[in-house]
Amino acid sequence: MTATLPVPLKFGIHKHQPQMEPMVLDEKRIPPRRQQPSTLPSHHSGYITRQVGGELNLEHCTDLEIKPPGPGEVVVKLLYLGICRTDGCFALGEPDLPQTNLIVGHESLGTIVVSPSDSTLLQTIVATRFLVSTCGTCSYCIRHLPESCVHRTTYPALTGTMQEYITVPYRHLQPLPQDYVTHLRADGGMALYVAAFCSGAAALKSLRTAAPRLGDVVLVSGVLGAIGHLVGMIAKKVYGARVVGVDLGWKWNRLNTVPQMIETTSGDGCVGFDLSQDRFLRQLERACAELRKEDVTFTPAGRADSVIVCASSAAAFQRLEDLVRDGGSIIIVGAPRGPCMVQVPLRSLLDRQLRIQGSLMGTWEESLQVMQWIHDCTITPYVHKVNLADAGRQLSDCVDCKTFGKGIIRIHS
Ligand SMILES: [Zn+2]
Ligand SMILES: [Zn+2]
Repeated sequence: MTATLPVPLKFGIHKHQPQMEPMVLDEKRIPPRRQQPSTLPSHHSGYITRQVGGELNLEHCTDLEIKPPGPGEVVVKLLYLGICRTDGCFALGEPDLPQTNLIVGHESLGTIVVSPSDSTLLQTIVATRFLVSTCGTCSYCIRHLPESCVHRTTYPALTGTMQEYITVPYRHLQPLPQDYVTHLRADGGMALYVAAFCSGAAALKSLRTAAPRLGDVVLVSGVLGAIGHLVGMIAKKVYGARVVGVDLGWKWNRLNTVPQMIETTSGDGCVGFDLSQDRFLRQLERACAELRKEDVTFTPAGRADSVIVCASSAAAFQRLEDLVRDGGSIIIVGAPRGPCMVQVPLRSLLDRQLRIQGSLMGTWEESLQVMQWIHDCTITPYVHKVNLADAGRQLSDCVDCKTFGKGIIRIHS
């Protein structure tokens, strides 16, 4: 395994406390409605997977037709699309999705340009994300597992968003709160919000699951990725945790090209090295001791209080039990392609009272909470924008773990 362990700065304990109050989308937050005629092009462009399975196979088409809206449906002109590794998995084949002529993409932000049933919806800024709706009454919904709802609706099952326009029922869209739209940050605008739709919600959900206390050491594996960097930021800025970031060695070596990431996730004390598991653990213990102001000699079990694995390489899932203290939590947010096992000695699990739990993308309420932190500058996602023509390559790089932060496709902006 080649990986690096940064030695973080001596982080202060942040004054922000977890803000766990759910945000309710009430009438006041629905944008003002206005009428505006709209003209649509005869064709638009997007990415189609003609036949799923095997390798990632996206074809950029410029002659897609815009489906005329039916009752209750609207046409959305997409402005930004979030690149998500999940789309790479969808394009390789997923039982719930079409096997031919599949359009992937699920995290997007756009504006309603056609709404025959209700013209007051025109120009409303709306979001799409993977989980659209759940029944709210099945046994999974009742147990707060909306992702497992047997009646769930999802993008891209409804339609993929890796295209310029989509035609969908309005009820399957999420309007953005008006104050988020009218008061945009100058350093990123609306594109920053797209990082909250799936990646940010997944990051927050993983932290809610881990529930770190003020001053805890949280190890974030894959900290330079789309979800990982948001886990690091929220852990530090909201939970007041100390973060040890772990990622691939070559990524740390390229950090000078993305300086914001240094400041926002891991401090400026990163140390890169090739390492064996034993060397890695020694570095981890040293970093934890430094963060806790403890002498490593007297705390041989000085490891993280919780580990959140956002990485997608198999190496990140080895000997996870060694990374945490007794009673520690191991939260798994990412997974490599293909079969991969997490193996933990039963005696470690029992004697050390460890917890291992998977965590998926969370709900729209979690997206809204992360958007609020973006809006009030508590966190700043690292987004890198590319044009729609580069979306295929960008997704391919994302699948291969070559990207930093969140990839955002500019569609109409
Ligand atoms: Zn996603
Ligand atoms: Zn349900």
